[in-house]
Amino acid sequence: MINHPTAFRLALLTWYQQNQRSLPWRTEPSLYKTVVSEFMLQQTQIKTALPYFERWMQRFPDFKTLADAESDVVLKHWEGLGYYNRARNLHKVAQWMRDSEEVPDTVEAWKALPGIGDYTAAAIASIAQGIPSAVVDGNVVRVLARLTNEQTAFANNGKAVDFFKGLANTLLDSESPGDANQAMMELGATVCTKGNPQCGLCPLQTFCQGFAQGSVADLPKIQRAKREKVKLNRGLAIQQKKILLHKIGTEAKRLKGHYEIPNLESLNLSENSDRLEVVSIRRRAISNQSIEEQLFRVSAEGLSFEGDEALNWIDFSEINSILLSGPHRRWLKEYLQTLDNN
Ligand code: SF4
Repeated sequence: MINHPTAFRLALLTWYQQNQRSLPWRTEPSLYKTVVSEFMLQQTQIKTALPYFERWMQRFPDFKTLADAESDVVLKHWEGLGYYNRARNLHKVAQWMRDSEEVPDTVEAWKALPGIGDYTAAAIASIAQGIPSAVVDGNVVRVLARLTNEQTAFANNGKAVDFFKGLANTLLDSESPGDANQAMMELGATVCTKGNPQCGLCPLQTFCQGFAQGSVADLPKIQRAKREKVKLNRGLAIQQKKILLHKIGTEAKRLKGHYEIPNLESLNLSENSDRLEVVSIRRRAISNQSIEEQLFRVSAEGLSFEGDEALNWIDFSEINSILLSGPHRRWLKEYLQTLDNN
């Protein structure tokens, strides 16, 4: 529990009013901007999402424009942000808003819409509609665990979120729930950070039991899930200013309808090593997977993938207009530049 909650709320809100980052969904707020920004920020950091948000607003300035757009156009504007179901669900929400005579006005009503869970519903309802409902994400968990010197070891982040929801709602300023929620998240993102908390600059230091006990660096205690290691080999085959790409089918869990650099196995190459040359090795993490992808230069001669309609020769001039995942577009661009330079 926090002593003197009224003074706590005042200290937090005053700090936020003086220190909040200027963000496009804050400077001229609207329900639409809040919904779009909350979808974008579900699995993406603010600095990554910012240019996408600006482009999105130029192309889809309101619910109706977004609702009326073709699905491919919507996905194209999301390209590079990843987790494309967010874009599909945001599109459905816009269509719901266009076709409905009412705007959801409770957290539960928001949660009934596609892609909106506890966190996003509370964020939209509090920020855009002033409904008092606390949002709890990883940043808020960290701040609350340190403030209360909570020593429980949580099995995962979800358990920690559930644990702190009650306290977050108790502490929420019901007069300004949107600002109070954003203040907690902002404090966690900029002051009460994971590796380097700036307790000397913190408006909540006098309330902070973790600071008083010297236990800040150990909190929160959350067990990290082990990442599964995945290795993939991909083939870059080029002929006559065309590149061979694989189109991901609609049955796939992720990246439906996107092109990607094909798996080497799908090209039915023999073990003939003079047709293979490693161009680069890329590593990235997606959810609980740690993925290493080796990119091979592959001779186009003798490839045999007859009958595999998912493999297509794509003209270089078309690459910008097709859907490609962000990393694959980047890798392809870098590879084509090396060819230009040689
Ligand atoms: S005093 Fe330090 S640990 Fe406590 S809330 Fe502030 S930044 Fe976080």
